Amino acid sequence: MIYTCDVGRYRLRGSSLGGIHTAIMVPELRVLFDVGHFSRAFVGADHIFISHGHADHLGSLPSLMGARGLQQKGPPKIYMPEGVEAPLKRALDAMASLQRYDLTIDAVPMQPGDTTQIGPDLWVRAFRTYHSVPSLGYQLFRRVKKLKPEFRHLSGDEIRRLRESGAPIFDVVEQYELAYATDTLPRVLKAEPMLLESKVLILECTFLDERKSRDDARSGGHIHLDDLLDDLPRFQNEHLVLMHFSQIYEPREIKEILRAKLPAELVDRVVPFVPPGRCWPL
Ligand SMILES: [Zn+2]
Ligand SMILES: [Zn+2]
Repeated sequence: MIYTCDVGRYRLRGSSLGGIHTAIMVPELRVLFDVGHFSRAFVGADHIFISHGHADHLGSLPSLMGARGLQQKGPPKIYMPEGVEAPLKRALDAMASLQRYDLTIDAVPMQPGDTTQIGPDLWVRAFRTYHSVPSLGYQLFRRVKKLKPEFRHLSGDEIRRLRESGAPIFDVVEQYELAYATDTLPRVLKAEPMLLESKVLILECTFLDERKSRDDARSGGHIHLDDLLDDLPRFQNEHLVLMHFSQIYEPREIKEILRAKLPAELVDRVVPFVPPGRCWPL
């Protein structure tokens, strides 16, 4: 079962449950983050971003590729940590010989800091996350022209004349649209300040209360809500989407815990990516 969540101009569609499966699509951008489970809704994704090689984030890739094949779609472009490429290709080769059909992918191995264009005005930058295996997060951004400060007092006509004369009156700045960071320690937020400025930040928050201590969360390479509470004043995101919750919490309970622990001024900006109802779908 997949569910949706609307954040600003984007719709998120997918499902996420820590250690079980995570796959979240942004249909407007034709982007899919991780393939820990399969839905026919994901067949339209042109760009697939793999955070790391754990099965709950990658295990349903052959099913997705099979469904794409049925629709005569070519190999998907799959961005991944450099260390994932070789073992993933070996695994897909084994699946291909088992199934006797082609599972070729268009792999884009990435290192932290690597940037590549994925749309007419959309780029992605990989950044380091902190987990037990090679892992990456992804920041999608646009490059927009911004009038240099020394020209901001000019009238519209004066700016137009300067622009037409070819004068360099604009700076190109990066506008952070949407970021995805999962299976990581909270230190990613200090190492990558751009995450706090991203309009939408999709962030794992596997553990929420005393049923799992902060130290236990860290030893598994995960974030605890109490870690985020320290950093919340720095968050400038329009929407902070929390996901990858442990199944020790039920969806309705997650909403209650967030309401109780988050400062009132932030409750509306923090969205748990959970299904409607009380229980996780089986
Ligand atoms: Zn995970
Ligand atoms: Zn993991």
